[in-house]
Amino acid sequence: MRLGIISALHEEQQGLIEAMQHATTTAHGGRVYTHGQLWGIDTVCVLSRIGKVAGAVTATLLVEKFKVTHILFTGVAGAGDASIAVGDIVVADTLVQHDMDASPLFPRFEIPLTGLSHFPGDHAMALQCLTAAHGFLEHDFVDVIDAAQRATFRLAQPRVHRGLIASGDQFMHDRTVINALNAALPGLVAVEMEGAAVAQVCYELGIPCAVIRTISDNANADAATDFLTFIEVVAARYAFHIVRRYCQALAKHGL
Ligand code: SAH
Repeated sequence: MRLGIISALHEEQQGLIEAMQHATTTAHGGRVYTHGQLWGIDTVCVLSRIGKVAGAVTATLLVEKFKVTHILFTGVAGAGDASIAVGDIVVADTLVQHDMDASPLFPRFEIPLTGLSHFPGDHAMALQCLTAAHGFLEHDFVDVIDAAQRATFRLAQPRVHRGLIASGDQFMHDRTVINALNAALPGLVAVEMEGAAVAQVCYELGIPCAVIRTISDNANADAATDFLTFIEVVAARYAFHIVRRYCQALAKHGL
C-alpha cells in the first residue's frame, strides 16, 4: 500500500513531515508532495489548502501521479450537532457536499449524473481511525495537551463520533445556518470544506479513503476567533498522534 495523507492547513501537517524518514519532495501544480516512510508506512503527505476544488485536485494527483492506494484526510471541522463539543474527534461514515443544489433538476445535495448525494468513507479505514482516535484520547491526550491548555479550550473529556460530514466552500459561523443544515442532513456530525470532495474523487477512482477531523469550533459566531490558536495548540497534536497510532497499527497488523 501507499498512503496519501492530506491536510488543509500547514500547522496540521508540519509534525508529520518532520517525523518522516527518507523524505523526498516534489513540487507540482502549486503544492509540495513529501514522500517517505511514516512509522513503517510508505506515505505521501501534502497540503490541499482550503476548499472543495483544492481537496479534489489534491486527491486526484495523489492517485494519478503519486500512485497512492489509500487516502487519509486529517484536519479540523466545525461541530455539526449541538451534542458535539470542541476537542471531540469525528470520523466520517459518509460525506455530502452541502452547497450542491441543482434542484429542481436533481434533488438537493445530489451530485448531478451520479445518482448520489452521500459518498462513503472506507469502512475498514474508518474502523482503524476510530481505534487510533480512542487510543489517542485514552493514552496520549493528557500528556500532550497540558492542564492549562485543556482549561483554555474547555477540553474535559473529549469523545469520538462516527457519522455524516458535510463539506462546502463556506466557513460556517452562523448558528441559524448550521441548525438548518443539521435539520436537512440527519446524522450530521461535522462541517468542513474539503472532505466530501476528496470522497467523491476516491469513489470515482476506486480508492479507499477516510476523513478524520478534530472539532475546532461550534460553527457559530465564535468560530473565527477560536480557530487559529486551537489549530496550533490542540489540533496539530491530535493529528500527529492519531496518524502515528494509525500507521503503527497498520505496520503491525497490515490492512
Ligand atoms: N482562518 C483560516 C481559515 C480556515 S478555513 C485561515 O486564515 O487560514 C477552515 C478550515 O478548517 C477548512 O480547511 C475547513 O475544512 C475547516 N473548518 C473548521 N471549522 C469550520 C467551519 N466552522 N466551517 C467550515 N470549515 C471549517
